[in-house]
Amino acid sequence: MKSLIDHARAFSVHVAERPDEFRELAAGQAPQALFITCSDSRVIPSLITGARPGELFELRTAGNIVPSYDEQRPGGETATIEYALRVLNIRDIVVCGHSHCGAVGAMVRGDDLSAVPAVRGWLDNCATGQPSARELAHAVQQHAAAQLDTLRGYPAVRERLADGQLSLHAWYYEVDTGAVSSHRPELDGDFRPL
Ligand code: ZN
Repeated sequence: MKSLIDHARAFSVHVAERPDEFRELAAGQAPQALFITCSDSRVIPSLITGARPGELFELRTAGNIVPSYDEQRPGGETATIEYALRVLNIRDIVVCGHSHCGAVGAMVRGDDLSAVPAVRGWLDNCATGQPSARELAHAVQQHAAAQLDTLRGYPAVRERLADGQLSLHAWYYEVDTGAVSSHRPELDGDFRPL
C-alpha cells in the first residue's frame, strides 16, 4: 500500500506539469463510451483503450455482471448506466470480459461459495444463468455477450437503441497477452480480433 500512497501524494506534482490538460476537466466530462468490466485488478480500461481522463465512463463489477433492471430496487449499477445514457448521452457501451476471470470461473465450475455469501448472491444475480460452455475463455465470451441482452432490458438502453442512438459491444481481453477480441453476432456470435 505504501507505494500507492507515495504515488498519490506526488500526483499533483505530475498534474502541475500538464496544467492545461487537467484544468479543462473541471468544465465537465463528455466520455466516448461506457466501459463495463470486471473489478479484477489486471484489467485496466484506460491502459487497454488508451483513454485519457474524461474519455471513459466506467462501471466495474465482479464478473462484469450487469444486474437485471429493477425499478423497484435500483442499485448503483442501474444508476451508473442510466446516468451514462440520460445525462452524458453516451452512444457506445462496451461490456468487456477477461481471461482468467475468477467470478466466471466460479460459475462455470460451480464452486462452493458458502464462505463468500455476498459473492454467491451477486453471481446468482446474473440473470442469464450459468455459462454452459466447457472452456473458460468461451464461457467468459458468451457471458460478456449475454450482458448485452440484460442491458437491452434497461428502459434507457431500449429507447436509445430504438432511436439508433446507441451501439452495444462485447469484448474479451486476455490479461497475459493484451489481445482484445469482439463479439460478432453476424459470425454465429464468435469473437474475433478487434
Ligand atoms: Zn473477472
